[in-house]
Amino acid sequence: MIYLDNAATTKVYDCAVKAACAAMSVNFYNPNTTYKSGVLVRECIENARNQIAAAIGAHASEIVFTSCATESNNWVFSCGIKNKKGNVIISAGEHSSVYESAMQLKSRGVDVRIAPITRDGVVDESALLNLIDENTALVSLIHVSNETGAVNPIKRLTKLIKSKSPRALVHSDGVQGLVKTGEPISDLGVDYYSASAHKLGAPKGIGLLYIRQGLNVAPLLYGGGQERGLRSGTQNTPYISAFAAAVTKFKRLANIGEITRLRNELCDFFVANGCKIIGQSQNSGYILCVSIPNVKAEILQNIAHDNGVIIGKGAACSGSKRGNRVLSAMGLNAKEIESCVRISLAADTSREEAMEAAKIIIQAANQIRSL
Ligand code: PLP
Repeated sequence: MIYLDNAATTKVYDCAVKAACAAMSVNFYNPNTTYKSGVLVRECIENARNQIAAAIGAHASEIVFTSCATESNNWVFSCGIKNKKGNVIISAGEHSSVYESAMQLKSRGVDVRIAPITRDGVVDESALLNLIDENTALVSLIHVSNETGAVNPIKRLTKLIKSKSPRALVHSDGVQGLVKTGEPISDLGVDYYSASAHKLGAPKGIGLLYIRQGLNVAPLLYGGGQERGLRSGTQNTPYISAFAAAVTKFKRLANIGEITRLRNELCDFFVANGCKIIGQSQNSGYILCVSIPNVKAEILQNIAHDNGVIIGKGAACSGSKRGNRVLSAMGLNAKEIESCVRISLAADTSREEAMEAAKIIIQAANQIRSL
């Protein structure tokens, strides 16, 4: 099987499995105990935090482990806003975990504003700036779109947002951007950044929220005071260890030049075969959204699967929901949306397997059209 749905989740690296197993079988003690074995486990967590901090360009004290990015995103909207009376701005390109969190605030009377996105899938900069005023409490912008791979220039946007409204906090959902864009989080200037480990070769069920040093955020969970009192609950030491092993390996393997060349080659191949690339400019090398004319993505996905290729269609986590909010916001019509598949690469996807998969996808499309 050629697996090209890495934006949905990735295969867990062997080093991450080993790290998790060691933390379950050898270092299984509660990290919050005071005897030596427990203290050693606590040290393992802090070593993992340091390792992750080094890989993502943050300070260890800025990382709080969560169970997933959905949790991190929800946390920002539920407890991360200082001025609860201010308005909140998101883009129309956000993942449902941000969008639905914002809708929750709206249902409670908060002034939630949605900045449009362009045909390329990035936030419309001037429309965004027009929405910001002195009462803006939070602006949340996805770093890399999980649908199209469109990359928002977060560093520049954060500067613009803060110059217009210095009080506004900036959050970025970095699930598809972490390590993959090559930008250290500290360079982005954001206050919050959410990430998930299972997109980088670690297991599902572990994520983080980056909270800029000095920021006062209300705790998400109250209890034993773990994670600096911000998220109580016994830490998931196996998955924290796996996260550290995986992100370190991913960073070692990641080659932005190579992945971009491969994406470009795939784009050329699909265009030569009558397809349209959705979101052409400012794209991550890891994600490619292709409209394959006169084909329903769901049928294509199943035939490709039968022929040994796994690809995505829209966002995996919202696969059961009708329509596609983000692609509609980009101006695609229902027929175009229906025909969109998402091809997403891993750091170690080879050119041979990617190009072989592309041929199989086109053959499957031709097969559907001939029925
Ligand atoms: N944000 C983006 C951009 C995503 O792609 C995803 C998952 O696909 C999430 C958030 C949710 O991540 P998690 O599965 O860790 O909750």
